Formats: sequence, structure tokens, C-alpha cells
Amino acid sequence: RSSREDNSVAGRVRVAVRLRPRSAEELLNDADFADYVELMPELKKLKLRKNSWDSETYQFDEIFSETTCQKRVYEVIAKPVVESVLDGCNGAILAYGQTGTGKTFTLGKLGKEDVSDRGIMVRALEDILADTSCGQDTVTVSYLQVYMESVWDLLAPEKDNITITEDPKTGDISLPGATSVEIRDQKSIIQVLRTGKSNFFSGNKKLGIDNSGSHVLLLVNVKKTFRGKPDRLELAVLNENGSNLVHIPKGQTLPTIRSSKLLIADLAGSEIYERAGFEGPLTVDEAKFIKHSLTCLGKCITALAEDSTHVPFKESKLTKLLGDSFTATAKTSLIITIGPSPQYRGETTSTILFGQKAM
Ligand code: ADP
Ligand code: MG
Repeated sequence: RSSREDNSVAGRVRVAVRLRPRSAEELLNDADFADYVELMPELKKLKLRKNSWDSETYQFDEIFSETTCQKRVYEVIAKPVVESVLDGCNGAILAYGQTGTGKTFTLGKLGKEDVSDRGIMVRALEDILADTSCGQDTVTVSYLQVYMESVWDLLAPEKDNITITEDPKTGDISLPGATSVEIRDQKSIIQVLRTGKSNFFSGNKKLGIDNSGSHVLLLVNVKKTFRGKPDRLELAVLNENGSNLVHIPKGQTLPTIRSSKLLIADLAGSEIYERAGFEGPLTVDEAKFIKHSLTCLGKCITALAEDSTHVPFKESKLTKLLGDSFTATAKTSLIITIGPSPQYRGETTSTILFGQKAM
């Protein structure tokens, strides 16, 4: 199952590109902005100009311009994944891009001053909460940092060596040692995200780690009661008891609990992966580990795009955590964030090419 041997519906990753608006400084300094990147949102294409006579055009699933609001980004690229999680399938939403291009803004923004600024994490949890109102339904979250192939618990910073386990029968990935907090209302959503965020920044500061050198993952586990059609119930019983298929008489509706999960990943800065040398704020070892995990992610995404029967997800901690989101029934979206400054033409081009691996 985990290697998609069943060859059913292609699990290709959907890819969107989002361009960050110019900062005040960029508005002052980059007069040639318009020459560098051209978006064609209706055609879902993007043109990168190499120089005044040569350009390359790339096709994606979605293009979000500098004026696209958080709500639209959520609805177009994240909501279909969330809905599939609420239907009992696994899902993942990843943001990949150079540091400073809007990964954390897109995923993790809490919108304290302005709720319209809220990012995908808050919106996804709100939608999940709204759809799990039944008494037995539960939504729990874990918040993790992957640093140099170690998994740290952002809800309990003393736990810095969380083990990833894979169920040999079902291929399900779990983190038995990670703190898991139940979400009950809007207040607990903001609270848990704020705690994770604050532990991320304070932990990195204490250890002198650059914030761009880790992957940050929000893991949402959903247990939902279905009183559905018999075909759905049959599937549910299969999931719960492994190989025991229980026959349910036609027309009978028994409440059944199904588990699924959503992973939202704010990835390490892509400039680390793409830079040839190791200059910058990270140590050689830190950069090596990030390169390794992002290379593995690229390989998995390519394998999915090629409908390969083998997705090599076991080669890094990051992809291992994503392992059961790389299955035929799971939905995965990748948001490629780019900046408007022509100064980073090289990084932007490599980031775009990473996104193209999935197309
Ligand atoms: P990253 O996580 O990729 O390093 P951030 O999300 O921290 O980047 O974004 C860098 C800066 O740009 C932040 O100040 C953020 O608020 C701002 N920013 C990013 N994307 C947008 C956007 N779409 N609209 C407005 N401001 C943005
Ligand atoms: Mg960030």
C-alpha cells in the first residue's frame, strides 16, 4: 500500500506558485521587477525572463499573484485536501521556497490583528473542527520540528528525539511519543499554534539555530464517526481491523469511526538545497541534512508524477513522515513560494524547477 502497488488513481501532487508582494524596500530598489517574472494566472502559466531576449514559460496547476488573498489560496489549493481528510483519506500540504518568500505567511499566519490574514493551518483546523461535531469525533494535533534528521516536539520542547513508526500491515505512520493536543474550539486552535510557534523560535534562539534550517510540521489526526452508506462502512471496518472484512447488510447504517490525517509542512529554506556552496547562516552539517531531505522529497514527488510503483519515502525523516500521504488515495498539494526581487533570479528559477518535478 505504501509503495502504491495498487496502481489506482494517480496520486500526483498538485502544485501552485505564489508570488509574494514587494516589500517597502523592494518597491524602492527593484525598478526592473516587471521584467523578471510574468504571471498568467488564467492560463496557469508563469514566465521567467533569463535576460532581455530569452525567457522560459512553465505550466502549473495554479498561479497566485501578489494580490491573491489568503482565503483564495486556502480554498483553491488546501481545501480539497482538507475535504478529502474529512472523507477519511490522508492528505498533505507543503510549502517550498526561498527564505523570506512567504511559506510561513501562507501556512502559519495566525492573523491576530486581521483574521483575513489567517493562513492555511488555522483555516484547515477551523474547517475540520466544524465538520467533526459528533460526540465521538476527535481532532488532535502534534507540532514538530525536523532538525538534522531528528524529530523534535514543539508542544513539549524537552522531547527532542521522537520516533517515527510504520505499521507493517497497513503502512500507517505514527509518532507514539509526540504530544498530541485535542482541539475543541477556536480558542484551542490559536493556542496550540501559538505554543508551537513560540517554542520553535525560543528553542532555535537558545541553541543558536537559524530558523530557516528546519522543517516545521503540523500533524492533524482526525477520528470521525460515519453513519454512511454500506460501501463506506465496509471500507471503515477494513481500516479498523486490518484484513478482516466484515459484511454489512445493505441499507444498514452502523456508526463507524474512521481515522485520517493531515500534514502541513513549512519546509526549510530552498536556498539551502539549491546553493552550490555552504555559505550563509547554516553549518555545513545542517545544510547537508536539509539537502538530503529535500532531495528525497524531490525524488518522491517525481515518482508520484511518473506514476511509479515505488515512492522512496523511507530515505529521510521528512519523507518518512509524509509516507502515508504518498498513497493512491491521499491528496497532496505543494505551494511554491517565490519573491519578486530580480536579485534572487537564480533561486527562483531552481525553486520553480523543483515544483516542475511534480507536473
Ligand atoms: P518564509 O517563511 O518563506 O521565510 P515569511 O512567510 O516569513 O517567509 O515571509 C517573509 C515576509 O514577507 C514576512 O514579513 C511576511 O509577512 C511577508 N509576506 C509573505 N507573503 C506575503 C503576502 N502574500 N502578503 C503580504 N505579506 C507577505
Ligand atoms: Mg518561515
